[in-house]
Amino acid sequence: MKDGGRKQGVMTPCAACKLLRRRCAHDCVFAPYFPADEPHKFGSVHKVFGASNVNKMLQELPEHQRSDAVSSMVYEANARVRDPVYGCVGAISSLQQQVDVLQTQLAQAQAEVVHMKIHQSSSSSDQHQSSPSSENVYHLGSY
Ligand SMILES: [Zn+2]
Repeated sequence: MKDGGRKQGVMTPCAACKLLRRRCAHDCVFAPYFPADEPHKFGSVHKVFGASNVNKMLQELPEHQRSDAVSSMVYEANARVRDPVYGCVGAISSLQQQVDVLQTQLAQAQAEVVHMKIHQSSSSSDQHQSSPSSENVYHLGSY
């Protein structure tokens, strides 16, 4: 069982209080999410968002959402530290470009499937009857 880095009876300050050089109260809002053994997490979040803003944001959220909020803030903060210009927007826009490329490929593949179906049905109907309109479809699609 993980208890957020706090050992029963021993007051180890959480990573946030340690960095801020303050006493870690038993109801410290940071303690469950910034255990003492992961100091880098609070380091980057503090650098990018500021401890008091993080404190405020966590207070405003119901407890069951705080862990997710901390994870996303840590992600954003680390991205901003790595890339001071674009931060996590760099990752978002490169993924958005990939989505655009994949959507184009998907549309091309779907068009190919439609073309193959038309070709198939026109060549199978050719065995029974020679229809000039299906011949046209075949030639139009295969130039
Ligand atoms: Zn604390």
